[in-house]
Formats: sequence, structure tokens, C-alpha cells
Amino acid sequence: MTKAAFLEQVWAHLDQEHLFDLVEEAVRRYTPSGAEQPAAELFAAALKAAGVPCERQPVGATGRENLLVVLGEEPVALLLVGHLDTIRLLPLEQLPAPRRAGDLLYGLGSADMKGGCAALVACLAALVASGLTLSRGVAVALVVGEEEYGDGSLRLFERLQAPLVVIGEPTGLVPCTGHHGYLELDLEVRGRRAHAALPELGASAIEPMLRWLLDIVEGAPRLGPGVVVNVRELEGGSALFVVPDHCEASLDVHLPAGLPLADFERLVEEARLRAAATAADGVALKHARVHWGRGYAPSGEPAYLDTLRRAFSLAGLPFAPGVFRSHSDASLVGGAYPVVCGPGRLEVAHARHEHVSLEEVWQAARLYVALVVEACL
Ligand SMILES: [Zn+2]
Repeated sequence: MTKAAFLEQVWAHLDQEHLFDLVEEAVRRYTPSGAEQPAAELFAAALKAAGVPCERQPVGATGRENLLVVLGEEPVALLLVGHLDTIRLLPLEQLPAPRRAGDLLYGLGSADMKGGCAALVACLAALVASGLTLSRGVAVALVVGEEEYGDGSLRLFERLQAPLVVIGEPTGLVPCTGHHGYLELDLEVRGRRAHAALPELGASAIEPMLRWLLDIVEGAPRLGPGVVVNVRELEGGSALFVVPDHCEASLDVHLPAGLPLADFERLVEEARLRAAATAADGVALKHARVHWGRGYAPSGEPAYLDTLRRAFSLAGLPFAPGVFRSHSDASLVGGAYPVVCGPGRLEVAHARHEHVSLEEVWQAARLYVALVVEACL
């Protein structure tokens, strides 16, 4: 039997209606980072009903769990990863119920990434139902904590590594072999409080912060194309009719793989010195790195590329590798650089109108099966 024939045999066990219902129910369950259990229970129940053996991997001390399925022998040839959590939406009343409009399913986590998780579960169910015997193992993990600092993935990668890791974040099914780096940075300015009518007696913390921030934002493009700086939070002052004595900001910074982190941090430091030089005496400006996830761009042809290309060909999908421009758990994988590829678009993830094409979720399930057949048969 050819690989294509084996593939047809597994695909025949994919249940489209069941898959679409599973995504919708997953979206209905509000599972922000730290409270992922309702999604874990849903997917665990779906796996159990399909006869797929599932390991629960405790993460931390509060009862949170990754789900891990290993089919065939370890060490596995392929590891597919999804995350169970979404961003935290406050106030909760703004949580939209899942809604279907034609091919689109709207709701928090539909693209990022419950569509991908459901596709992975459907892939496993079809593999087991087909009775296919794999000569090399495959693992699928649904992890907690991706939208924070990846405690679920850290736990997973302690337990398991693979030469090909595919993370199902929303890429519109573009295989992203490159990945931007992500820096989370906190800035803080301390000034001196005084009556609002007597600013000469105080030292504003807000004005130097504004100068500092704009200097960073305007200077970033000079480092090279593709640098993204988002001023995510800005807080300072009070309602007391005073010169504000404190101001804090948080930045999200996405850096193309070739751009050293040190270059960006030098920009921040030089801008800090300029803002300090024009601030009143006694103003203190400091910055602290909260998180850094390194980016990567594989040089030459990575060993897994042929497997990937053949799987795309079998699934009838265009193969045009790209770069994932956001943050993901990929930066936590040791060894092989993961490929990010899943249904949905990053452009709508974390947005109020987040949605996913159900047809694309279906294509993702077919592609993941093709990957298993290519990498593990
Ligand atoms: Zn995500």
C-alpha cells in the first residue's frame, strides 16, 4: 500500500460534524491561562470516547494539567502541540458566545487556538480508529499556560522531545519555519510630587516617560525592517492635583530572528539617557526585562523540510514556508526549531472579532494526519 492509500484510509475516519461541534464547544468554555481545566476535560472526554489513551501531566500545584497522547514507540518522530488557554478577558461579561456565520466560527480562542486543538484531537481519533500501525511514534500535547510564560510547555519538553515539532498556532496553514523573538519589557519613572500649580517644586514622572517611549518607538525602525514595538500599558499619576511622581509602561517587542536583542536593549538604554538628560533633577528612569523568547531562522534546508513538503503535497495544500511574527511556546523547545502551522489567522487572534474558518480547521486535521503518515509510518 502506498502512503497515499494509507492516508485515505485514515482520512476516511475523520468526522467533520464531530470536529466542528468540538471546536464550538471548546470556544464556549472560557479557559484563560491558569484556568484551563474545562477545555482539558472536554478534549480528554473526546479522546476517551474515541479510544485514544491519554496521559495527564500535572503542571504546578493547583490541579492544572497538560494532556499528552503518545501513539507508537518513544522516542517519537513527531510532536504536535496545541495550547488550551486563551487570553484573559476582563470584564468577563464581554465574553462573546460562540457564533457560526457560514463557514466562520466566532469566539474567543476560535483561532488561537482551539481550532488547532480540536484538529489535533480529530487527527488522533482517526489514527486510532483506522488501526494503522506506526513504525515510529507520534505525540500530541495540549498544554496549559501558553498565553503567559509557557509553564505547560516547559513541563512537556522536560518529558519529551522530537526531531520535528509542529505547533498549531494560527498561521492560515502556512508552515512557519522561522520565528520572531519576543521581548517583554517594563519601564518605570520616579519623579517628585508637588502641587499641580507649582510644578517647579516637583518633577513629573510622566513627561520623561512620554519622551522615552516615543524615542524608542520612533527609533525602532532604524534597527531594521520588521521590528514591532507595542506600548501595551501606560499608567501614572493620580487625581490629587499634583505633579505625578510615578509612571510605568509595559512594552511588547517582536524582533526578526537576525536582529540581536542587545541592539534593541541598547536603543532603550540610549533613549533612557536622553530622556534623563532633559528631566528635572531627582527623576529616576529604569527598565527591566520581564521575558525574552528567542527567535530563529533555520539556515539552509532543515532536515525535516522534506517530510513537511511531502505532507503538504499529500494534503493538497500549497507549500510556501513563512515566518511566525508573534510569540509562541516555540521559543521553549530545546534542540530542533519547531514549525508553527495551524488554522486561523494571527490577524484576528486576541481581537474582539476573533474567528476561524471551519473549512480550514478541517484542512488542518487532514494535514496533521498527513504529517503523521509522512513522519511515522
Ligand atoms: Zn496561541
